[in-house]
Amino acid sequence: MDLYSGHINKLIEELAALPGIGSKSAQRLAFHLINMPQDKVERLSETILEAKKNVRYCKECFTLTDRETCPVCANQNRNHKLIMVVENTRDLAAYEKTGKYEGVYHVLHGAISPMLGIGPGDIKLKELIERLKGDVEEVIIATNSSLEGETTAMYAAKLIKPTGIRVTRIASGVPVGGDLEYIDEVTLFRALEGRVEI
Ligand code: ZN
Repeated sequence: MDLYSGHINKLIEELAALPGIGSKSAQRLAFHLINMPQDKVERLSETILEAKKNVRYCKECFTLTDRETCPVCANQNRNHKLIMVVENTRDLAAYEKTGKYEGVYHVLHGAISPMLGIGPGDIKLKELIERLKGDVEEVIIATNSSLEGETTAMYAAKLIKPTGIRVTRIASGVPVGGDLEYIDEVTLFRALEGRVEI
C-alpha cells in the first residue's frame, strides 16, 4: 500500500540512498523539502548540480577542487617535495585546519579493502607513484588507522621504498579505527610530528 504519493516515495528512496541517512531521516527530509518555499528548493537543487558540474580532481594531488590545480598545489610557498598521502579530501581538510603542515598532499580517494573488493587499482596509487618521478624527498602516509588504512599504508610503502624516497607513517595517538576527520587538531599535529620511518 502506498502511504504517500509516488513522488514523495521516490524522493524518500533517493534520500535514503545517501550515506548516513536512514529511512526515518529520509522521510523527515523529504517532507521538509516538500514544505520548503519553491525558491529555496530551486536554490538547493541548483547548488547540487553546479557543485557536481564544476568540482573536479586537482591535476596534481587529486583532491576535489573547482580549479585545474587546487589552492594547496598552486601555492609556491608550500614544500612540494613533501607529500602527505590521505584517503580523501575530508582528511586533507582536517590537516589543513591544523595550519601547521607545509607540504602538499596526495588524495587516494579510498583505501584498499579486500572485503569490499577495493584493490590497489581502484584508488589513486598509480598516480602517486607517477608523482614520485618528480623532485620528492618524503612521503608521509596518513591513511586512517583502520585495517583498510593500515593495509593501504603497507602497500604504498612497499611501492615507494624502491625509489629511495623516505617513507614515513603518522604516529599513533590517532585512535585505532578512528576517522582522521573526527580527530582534533592537536592530536593530528602530534601524529604528524611523531611520524616514523617505515
Ligand atoms: Zn592539488
